[in-house]
Amino acid sequence: MRDPDSVTDAEVFAAFPGVLIDRDNVEHYRGLVAGRLLINRCQACGCWIYPHRPLCPKCLSWDVRPTEVSGEGHVFMFTLIHQERDPNGLLNRPIVAAAVELAEQPGLRYLAPVVGCEVDEIRLEMPVRLTWIEQGGRMAPAFEPAPAGEA
Ligand SMILES: [Zn+2]
Repeated sequence: MRDPDSVTDAEVFAAFPGVLIDRDNVEHYRGLVAGRLLINRCQACGCWIYPHRPLCPKCLSWDVRPTEVSGEGHVFMFTLIHQERDPNGLLNRPIVAAAVELAEQPGLRYLAPVVGCEVDEIRLEMPVRLTWIEQGGRMAPAFEPAPAGEA
C-alpha cells in the first residue's frame, strides 16, 4: 500500500490500458494502483456514490471526494464464469464474479472476484472482507470470507 497522492496520472493510465479513465473515476483507479479501495463520497450528506459520478444523487452537491472504505461487506449476488474468451479455453476453476454490498451503505455494491474459499462454499449474504490479488501484473481488489465473528 502507498499513498494514492504519490501515484501519477501516467502510472494510472499505464496500469489500466483497456479502461476508459476520466475525471470522475481517475481517483478510484489511482487508489487501486496504491492498493486502496476508494469510493466517491458526498461531503455534504455522507452518501457513498458508486458507480462514479461527480454529483451526489441524493443532495445534488458537487463536493464529492474519493474516500477509503473499510473493506467489509457481504455477498449480494455472484455468478460463476466457466469459460474464457477463447471459446476453446475452459477454465480449471470458474471465476467467481460477485457484487459485494459494502458495509458503508445499503445498495453500495462493488464487483470483484471472491477468493480464499471453495466455489461451492460461497453463499449469498456471506460476510466477506477486502483482500488484494495479483491480476495481469498488478494488484486488484477481491473479497475473501471474513473470519467468524467479524463483519
Ligand atoms: Zn450528498
